[in-house]
Amino acid sequence: MGPNLPTFYEEPVHVVKGDGVWLWDAEGRKYLDCYNNVPHVGHCNPRVVEAIQRQAATLNTHTRYLHDGILDYIEALTATMDASLNTAILTCTGSEANDIALRMAEAVTGKRGIIATDATYHGNTALVSQLGTSNAPGVGFGLGQYFRFVEAPDSYRAPDPDGTIFAARVAAQIAALKADGTGFAALLICPYFLNEGFPDHPDGWLGPVARVVRDAGGLLICDEVQSGFGRTGTHMWAHQKMGVVPDIMTLGKPMANGHPVGGVVADRDLVSAFRDGYRYFNTFGGNPVSCAAAMAVLQEIADRDLVAHAKRVGDHARARLNALAARHEVIGDVRGSGLIFGAEMVLDRDSKAPATGFTDRVINAMRHRGIIHSKLGRYMNTLKIRPPMPFSVENADLLFDTLDQVLTETPVAP
Ligand code: PMP
Repeated sequence: MGPNLPTFYEEPVHVVKGDGVWLWDAEGRKYLDCYNNVPHVGHCNPRVVEAIQRQAATLNTHTRYLHDGILDYIEALTATMDASLNTAILTCTGSEANDIALRMAEAVTGKRGIIATDATYHGNTALVSQLGTSNAPGVGFGLGQYFRFVEAPDSYRAPDPDGTIFAARVAAQIAALKADGTGFAALLICPYFLNEGFPDHPDGWLGPVARVVRDAGGLLICDEVQSGFGRTGTHMWAHQKMGVVPDIMTLGKPMANGHPVGGVVADRDLVSAFRDGYRYFNTFGGNPVSCAAAMAVLQEIADRDLVAHAKRVGDHARARLNALAARHEVIGDVRGSGLIFGAEMVLDRDSKAPATGFTDRVINAMRHRGIIHSKLGRYMNTLKIRPPMPFSVENADLLFDTLDQVLTETPVAP
């Protein structure tokens, strides 16, 4: 393997087995997985495993034949969404889904200007890799000229309670794109701003920016690769929580519990406009085995009431984190919803100076105590806790009992 692939931790974990919220390494050591959203309904979920085995033993092929699996899945998926989100293209990755979404926006608006936040990640194709400012590729066919960035929302350091400041920032970039002749095609955001550090926003917060985008003739693209499938505990989709219906929505990661499935969902007219004069074919996207895995995930979410479960456990987790914040000055802010939660670490609560190095040491110490989680945000000082959805109250207690010990033992320093 080449040197481009980053691994987690000073001593990366060599995992060999998973079950539910647990992972085992090659030495037989057990870890509580508080990080992985891909095994959404639990590592090696029996229903998903059985669905994959059954379909693999029956038929697997690409999508140029008729097959019920893909239609049944898209019907079940879109039934959880607003009526206008009724047509889908299945892919293998979130990157491909975002790539298609941007090309759809160009096809529909006739423009190429794309706006995103300055602290995000949306994938790795030549087009969407332009959106990751912290890891901008040195190469990329000059596509960077079409992208503009707005400061990511930050509820802790620069509150914007009703979303109007963010909307004004986007409006300014739209005006700049129009003025320089590029034109405005779309705003692409994660509706819960997960990679940006999941700022605390009231429900409906995206309303003002959605109006700005539509008034300017652009499309709103919501990347629900991380925020979807009930993770926030209040809604199946984070855009519903934030009070908007996107023109295009993209999906990935948790969609099939680790089987590579992604997707783009939009209104039929919009998808048709993209298809005009152009065929989109993805050899593996939406194959029968992938669709069987994805269907099993949807069934598990419904049958086990995992959205409500995420809320219950998430509320408990944030209460525990707030209790820790009362004793550990280094915790500057506690945030999250459902099973995406965490805390921002600061050297000093008045200056809010990010404790980036400290956060790194905490994460490595937790790993040595058998707890897997990570960090994110503009300053990489926010604990990122995003476990498989079956994560329980007892699991959360183990996580925070261990975190309490690690915070007590780790000297607070930059
Ligand atoms: N969008 C978001 C919000 C992501 O976090 C990621 C992956 N981390 C992607 C898209 C890209 O997905 P993939 O790796 O499946 O291409």
